[in-house]
Amino acid sequence: MNITHICSELNPFIKTGGLADVTGSLPKAQAKSKNEINIIVPLYKDIIENYSLDYYADFPMETPLGLKTVIVKKTKIKRKLTVYFIGEHSYFYRDKIYGDYEDNPQRFAFFSKAALNFLEKYNNIPDVVHCHDWQTGLVSLYARGNNKFKNTVFGYTIHNIAFQGLFDFTDLYSLELNSYYFTPDKLEFFGKGSFLKAGIIYSDFVNTVSPTYRDETFTPEYGFGLQGLLEWKRKDYYGVINGIDKDEWNPLKDNKIFNNYSYLKIAEKEPNKKELLKKVNLPFKKDRALFVSITRLADQKGIDLIINSASNIVKKGHYLIILGSGDTFYEELLKEFEKKFPQNIRVFLRYDFELAHQLYAGGDFFLMPSKFEPCGLSQLISMRYGNIPVVRKTGGLADTVDDWSEKEKKATGFVFRNFDSDSFNYTINRALDVFKKEKDFKSLIKNCMKQNFSWDETAKTYKKLYEKYTKKNPEKY
Ligand code: ADP
Repeated sequence: MNITHICSELNPFIKTGGLADVTGSLPKAQAKSKNEINIIVPLYKDIIENYSLDYYADFPMETPLGLKTVIVKKTKIKRKLTVYFIGEHSYFYRDKIYGDYEDNPQRFAFFSKAALNFLEKYNNIPDVVHCHDWQTGLVSLYARGNNKFKNTVFGYTIHNIAFQGLFDFTDLYSLELNSYYFTPDKLEFFGKGSFLKAGIIYSDFVNTVSPTYRDETFTPEYGFGLQGLLEWKRKDYYGVINGIDKDEWNPLKDNKIFNNYSYLKIAEKEPNKKELLKKVNLPFKKDRALFVSITRLADQKGIDLIINSASNIVKKGHYLIILGSGDTFYEELLKEFEKKFPQNIRVFLRYDFELAHQLYAGGDFFLMPSKFEPCGLSQLISMRYGNIPVVRKTGGLADTVDDWSEKEKKATGFVFRNFDSDSFNYTINRALDVFKKEKDFKSLIKNCMKQNFSWDETAKTYKKLYEKYTKKNPEKY
């Protein structure tokens, strides 16, 4: 099968969150079978400056805002896995990949159109075009009516329904759309237009990244206004759980951490905690637990619960290290809060791959009290490193973490239901009780490390979906 992913982030080239992890690893798993995989991603400034890529092509593209030149660079990751970077200087040579740029709708509409043009001009037309998130929501709409794509299956994965790619009525012309599309049964969404709606309506199938989150999105609390539309799409809307890249996240081989280990040698994990604490200037003491959080600083992630729980953690003498970037509101709050507890808390406000690896390896507990969580990769990575997740029972967290219970020794973490500080603190205290019992704590670490969140199963599920819709779609135009 010839599969082309179109996306706005791709690990390791450009990453702000889990989307990049997924697009960086699902195609690799797919390339193991008899598939030919291409990935198309924007050629951002950061990529131009940090990677040396092969020139592949350039071509002019007519847009409502004038003639633009599309530049295509490429790199081969594996024999059957190639990445094409599609650029246009004025749209993508910018300091941030999303920023708050007013022309984000035009930027990503351009990218979507250019990706399709590129496929038409230079490549084989794929059997499957698999798009990700709002940035590529217009791809399936733009491909409609184009005879060349009549046998192509369009799949669309929503990694986070909270980001919808909204635009104004007055943008229609610059997006190569017209008022026909600006109705509630198409792209109109509470007075705005929505890229995400386009992706949901015009793709053959849609999925989100865990079964529980899929079910949650049918409700007003989690559907972000799209619950009705998803209901309409229900029979072609799936929940497919993500995996993690087991090569990148491997405590036995990871060269960014202080000491390698596996579940057979759990004692070798401890030097990671010692060195990490040394690095951040906190004294190691055997009876002090280290809580960590690596997160986008966004309302979704329950940062306020983490802040509220800090005094509970600190009062008992334990440590908390937070690595995050995002909303300035939270950045300022966290800095204040670090000042308040200099003996126990460290806050790093940046994106830092190396420190992230060291925190996964060095931490005892990983805090993830999300308000909602489509899948969540951080809890999967933390389990792989024997860093026990303390999570809210929502979305992918509910599907991947089993609460500690004395009876079933299969637990992999601590889970709470209500989004409030009391429930979170109560659960942190339960975690600390287990921390004191060395044998239980070790068995919990082992359980976590033995989990298999590989992409292979997920790749098989996507394959089945592609096949199911291949048989269905020839009539669609
Ligand atoms: P989301 O995609 O909602 O941000 P996920 O849990 O799915 O959350 O994925 C987050 C990914 O981004 C993980 O790989 C995590 O390690 C990484 N990450 C988040 N914040 C940072 C940061 N400040 N520095 C380094 N890595 C980060």
